[in-house]
Amino acid sequence: MSFDHLLADRTRNMSASAIREILKVVSQPGMVSLAGGIPAPQSFPLPIIRDLAAQIFEKYGARALQYDVTEGFQPLREQLVEYVRQQNIHTNTEEVVVTSGSQSMLDALGKVLITKGDKIAVEAPTYVGAITAFNPYEPQYLALPTDDDGVIPSALEEMLKQHKLKFVYIIPTFQNPTGRTLSLERRKEIARIIQQYNVLVIEDDPYSALRFKGDPVPPIKALAPEHVIYLGTLSKVFAPGLRVGFGIAPEPIRKWVVLAKQGIDLHTSSFSQALAAEFLAGGYLKDHLPKIIELYRPRMEAMLTSLDDFFPQEFTWTRPEGGMFFWAAGPKGMDLDPVYWKAIENKVAFVPGKYFFTDRSQGIETMRLNFTMSNEETIRMAVERLAGVLKSCL
Ligand code: PMP
Repeated sequence: MSFDHLLADRTRNMSASAIREILKVVSQPGMVSLAGGIPAPQSFPLPIIRDLAAQIFEKYGARALQYDVTEGFQPLREQLVEYVRQQNIHTNTEEVVVTSGSQSMLDALGKVLITKGDKIAVEAPTYVGAITAFNPYEPQYLALPTDDDGVIPSALEEMLKQHKLKFVYIIPTFQNPTGRTLSLERRKEIARIIQQYNVLVIEDDPYSALRFKGDPVPPIKALAPEHVIYLGTLSKVFAPGLRVGFGIAPEPIRKWVVLAKQGIDLHTSSFSQALAAEFLAGGYLKDHLPKIIELYRPRMEAMLTSLDDFFPQEFTWTRPEGGMFFWAAGPKGMDLDPVYWKAIENKVAFVPGKYFFTDRSQGIETMRLNFTMSNEETIRMAVERLAGVLKSCL
């Protein structure tokens, strides 16, 4: 039977992730991969989670396995209010909705906010998973120009003068894919602009806790609370497979997100939420986060030194202070797609950067490099190998 005619029109906007397709070869034996985008398994607090599992059954009994309200497990929502206070976000449990990873909040927001044809602005480049979440709702993307300090505020202002935007989606800290962080001056400027033009920002912040050096910068949510929906997650500081993320949204939006979530999954796993609540309430994160940072910091430093030591001088790269990624760019017009296949032959993988642009003609000379999944020695070897391939292709 053919099923094609059964598909909804919007389904045609969903496409298998091109990145997934090209990364199929990455698991070949002997391959060293800088292509990943996931936390190191050694960063998961396994013994703590084992103990917490016993504790939550003592404390909550069957409640940790029962259906719960859509908004989220109340003890976790209370902990999240405290957690974001460290970031200067002052909220209350009413504004917090727990979601199955921040990914499912992106989907819920797409569902609630986007009407076919609506204009939404995203960074160029941006997080592919957000585009995957928004695509079925058929928006029109406008690409926000960025540089080494992130979104260029004057470009946003210009865009707002010309277009009516449904929202602006940005990842201001240790961005995926670039590792860039929006400077404090620019955050203030963007806060001013969105208040002046009365525009909504979705601020996606999965990485700010992974700061390995430099001074923290406040989220835009702290600077323009009424104009920002803030998305957080425990995926990078606890365990991604538990699927615990959250959104902090002004009440008029939060109530629709909750209705959308009722249709999506009723609520996020009670068991995962109870674990997360105790992880935060018991102060375990305070002890565990420094261990994650100590694991990743030398990896980030190793990548930076190896790029400095081996990469061809025609290339430039970002100098992140945290997160999981570096972004490198070759000379304008150098297509890194064929280079990718040459790198694969040489048993080293990266992600070609063009996949992170909504306009695929952009970014052909760029690449994303991940440093969380390999140790320092492997990173150095991989960067040297990749540099050899790049030099041969220049
Ligand atoms: N936003 C960004 C920018 C990400 O990089 C990721 C994960 N790679 C997510 C959201 C989704 O994370 P999760 O659903 O695990 O919270």
